Order: sequence, then structure tokens, then C-alpha cells
Amino acid sequence: MSADVTEQVDAVIVGAGFAGMYQLLRLREAGLSTRVFDAAGDVGGTWYWNRYPGARCDVESMAYSYSFSPELEQEWTWTSRYADQPEILSYLNHVADRFDLRRDITFSTSVLSAHYDEAAARWTVVTDGGETVSAQFLIMATGCLSMSKAPEVPGEERFGGVVAHTGHWPHEGVDVAGKRVAVIGTGSSGIQSIPILAASAAEVTVFQRTPNFSMPARNRPLDDGEIAERKAAYPEYRAAARASGFGIPTVPATQSAFDVDDAERAARYQAAWEKGVLVAVGGAFTDVRTDVAANDTAAEFVRSKIRETVTDPATAETLSPRTYPFGTKRPCLDSGYYETFNRENVHLVDLRATPLQEITEDGVRTSEADHGCDVIVFATGFDAMTGALNAIDIRGRDGLALTNKWSEGPRTYLGLAVAGFPNLFTITGPGSPSVLSNMVVSIEQHVDWVTDAVLAVRGRGLSTIEAEARAEGEWVAHVEAVGNMTLFPQADSWYMGANVPGKPRVFMAYVGGVGPYRQRCDDVAAKDYEGFALA
Ligand code: FAD
Repeated sequence: MSADVTEQVDAVIVGAGFAGMYQLLRLREAGLSTRVFDAAGDVGGTWYWNRYPGARCDVESMAYSYSFSPELEQEWTWTSRYADQPEILSYLNHVADRFDLRRDITFSTSVLSAHYDEAAARWTVVTDGGETVSAQFLIMATGCLSMSKAPEVPGEERFGGVVAHTGHWPHEGVDVAGKRVAVIGTGSSGIQSIPILAASAAEVTVFQRTPNFSMPARNRPLDDGEIAERKAAYPEYRAAARASGFGIPTVPATQSAFDVDDAERAARYQAAWEKGVLVAVGGAFTDVRTDVAANDTAAEFVRSKIRETVTDPATAETLSPRTYPFGTKRPCLDSGYYETFNRENVHLVDLRATPLQEITEDGVRTSEADHGCDVIVFATGFDAMTGALNAIDIRGRDGLALTNKWSEGPRTYLGLAVAGFPNLFTITGPGSPSVLSNMVVSIEQHVDWVTDAVLAVRGRGLSTIEAEARAEGEWVAHVEAVGNMTLFPQADSWYMGANVPGKPRVFMAYVGGVGPYRQRCDDVAAKDYEGFALA
């Protein structure tokens, strides 16, 4: 053991959210010694950090939950269709208790670097807690939406009031009662929090750069009957989720938006709108995600709903997305978002017309006015998919830095592994369905696959598994080609890295479908890890 190394383990996992927790359980069951590190003070990942008012899932809770344990499925009961953050965090705490996970997790500890030692065929992992751990396998469960994006406006430190970021919401909460609140950003977190903030704040001023398409969640308590019915049908439901396009069972559309007349098309969109399901409107016809004209019928339907809901026509227009196709930025499910703009105490500022200039001592300055406020909420999103990975000094063979390898965009084989970085795995990494899916489905699939791969290496008395450069290149080209068959690359979205200045513009998720993707991964394993070198 090298002098600096404080511990030797079989595996290090970075992150203790849905992914890291399940990965720990699987590796422990397989008999591997495992250490998990998380910068957070406890388990939960996304649901530990995002405590802003209104935070909740937008995939139904009975689907957005682990499927690996039938006993866990049966004993846990969700209270509402879309659970709020405290309930999801309670669930993850329950899982941590039930499977005694915490004894292998070190909290409040960041992994700073991970260097591959070629001679030893092991990773050396350094934390800010002063530990240097040597591990055969390194599994990054660092999350796709865990690295908050720094607000692109100067002056925050000058502000005399309270500043809160939705992705790092203070545990003690933020008291907005009777206060003037500025919300910067209208992505999912802004859309979820604005109605709640507006209900108790004196004034809420919403600073919008790009409007989002949002649909009513139709959230409601679950009744005993439907819970029992769903619990009884869990095996079939989970199987359908695994085989589906987005990890959510749906009946696939069979007709183009232009196979039906205007009245029928409107009726189909209306039916989809009433479902309160994230993928319903986009899935109403076969070509909404692939054809601009078809897409525009969906976009116009949602815009008509905004006009119906928001009484001031100018505000309705400002809230109406017109610069990118429907669904190519992650759509939102809301509870009263558009209605909130009918309140007297809510104001909308269009940053396209009057750009943000700076934060002052008293509030937010645009090119047109000073907006005084007591609280600033930054709902400015994340450096998605690659942010948390690139923040760690990860070096593979020949000291190659992952950030250098990815300087023109992420390159992976199956979103799981990177050529030149043996025994490193990325759970829901770029190049996998990840953020284009019910992520718990994708997380479980990756964790199971990685566990099998690790056991294959060890079972054969080998040391390493590494993606081959050729297989990686083919996969990257395939991800791009499938993406280009859709409208996704047309939007300046975080899927494209476009929300972070200087980030390469690459469509980072795999849109080939959760079911076909799983099949591909299974085929690779069945063909003796085709495209990987085992040594
Ligand atoms: P995370 O939960 O992000 O956990 C990663 C952990 O890694 C974090 O705790 C972080 O602190 C830790 N970490 C990262 N880097 C380091 C480091 N260097 N050192 C130590 N620790 C580190 N997905 C859905 O499918 N459906 C939804 O409805 C949904 N709603 C969402 C709502 C919000 C507000 C957000 C932000 C995301 C939502 N997501 C949703 C996506 C969500 O991130 C995933 O569903 C899931 O929680 C990801 O789990 P994870 O374990 O992969 O990552």
C-alpha cells in the first residue's frame, strides 16, 4: 500500500442519491468492499439538495421509485400522484435505513480527484476529508443535475437581502412572507416554486429569459383503491416501464398529426393535456418529436392554453415559447403556474427585451429598470450531465484528463464507460437515455449492468474492463445520428449544453429509447462484453 493511501477497497462510489445508494447495495451483496462519498450531509442526492418550495417529481411516484425489491415496493405507500421533495427524501431515508446503507457512506465529503494507476490497475481517489482511497473500480453516481450553474449576472455578493439557489435551498427554509421576491429563471424549478412563493410573498417579480412549455400536473392524493391496484400490478407495470421509450409505460401513437383533421387533432391534444403526464402531449402523434410542422401543432396547442389561462394578452405572449420546438427543452408539469400571472402581486420581466445587467445592493437591475427586492431566488439550472464529472480531476491512462478527452463534448461507450479510463463507470452518463427517461428506471438498469460487468471481471480472475476506442467512436456517432433524427438539436437547451457559456454544443442524451437501449446493453454483455477489452 502506497504511503499516501489510507484505505484499499474494491470499489469507490461517488454520490449517494438514487444511483449511489442502489449501487452500494448491489456491490455489497456481491461481496465487494465499497466506500461511498457524498458532498451532501445525508442520502438523497437531488432530493437532499433541492428543498425549494414546490419541489416535486414530475414522473408519477409509483413509477419514480425503486423496483429492485418487491418488499420495498409493497411496504412503501406514496400519498400523492407526484410526491413532493420531503416525501421523496423520506423514501430515500427509509431505503437507507432498511438496507443499512449509511455504514459505508461518508457524508459531507467531496471527491476532488481520481487518478488511474496503470501499474496497479487501480484508482486513487482523494477526498477533501483528507482520505486517499485505492479502489479497483470507480463508479460515478454523481448525478446529471447535481452541479448548479452559476448565475450569469454579476453583483450577487453586493446584495443586502437574502439569496437562495433552488438547487442548494437552505435547510431552514427562506421566509418570504410579506417580502418582495425576485425569481431569476423559468425552468422546472422556477415553474414549480413561483406559485408557492407568490401565495405568501408581498410581490414576486419573475425574470424570464426563455419561456418554457408547461402543462398542468393534475397532482392529487392517491386513494387506497388505486394504490392497492397499482401495487398488485407492479411486476407488469415495471416490465412495461423497462421496455418503453422514456421509462414510463404509454400506448405509442400510431398516426401522424396530419393523419387527422383539425378537430380530431385538437381533441387528441386535449385528451393528452388532461392526463397530466409529462410525455402525453409530445406522444400524441408519431411525428411531434421529429417533424417541425407536426411539432408546431403541439406547440400551438400549448400556446392556446397559455392564452386561455393568462388574462393579460401581453403577459400571455411573453410566456409563450416561440424560439424552439415543443419538447426539445424539458417540458414542465406545474400546479397553477400560468394562473399565478393573473395575481396582482406577480410581475413578469422579459429579459430578451430588457436584459439582466447586475445585482445591486437593493435588487435586480435590467437595461430598463431597477427592481427592488428583499429575496433573490436563482432558479438558473444546472451544468447538466457532464458538470459534476468535469468538476473532479479524473485522469485515466497516460494521465489523460477526462476534461481534455471531453473538450469537444462527452465521449462514452453506451454512456457507461470511457476509452482510456479502465474500471470507471458513469451511472446515467452522457450517451445513455438518462435525463430523457424516468431516471430511476435508467439508474437501476445501469447499476445492474455495471454490477454484472464487475462480477464478470472478478469471476474470471481478471483485473480490468475498458471500453475500446472504436466501439466508443461508433456509439458516439450513433447517439448523434439518432439525435439528428429528432428536433432536439434545434433548441438551445441544457440537453445541448447551450445553457452554460463555452460548453460544447452536443446533444448529450441517447434518444433511441429506454427499451431498445437496455436490449443493446444486454446484447453487449451477452456477446462477452463486445466493444470492451477485459484484461
Ligand atoms: P443525484 O441525485 O444528483 O445524486 C448525485 C450525488 O452526487 C449528489 O448528492 C452530489 O452531492 C454527489 N456528488 C457529485 N459530485 C460529487 C463529488 N465530487 N464528491 C462527492 N459527492 C459528489 N428525474 C426523473 O426521472 N423524474 C423526476 O420527476 C425528476 N424530478 C427532478 C426534480 C428536480 C428538482 C431535479 C433537480 C431533478 C429531477 N430529476 C427527475 C432528475 C434527478 O436528478 C434524478 O431522477 C435522480 O434523482 C438522480 O439520482 P442520482 O443518484 O443519479 O444523482
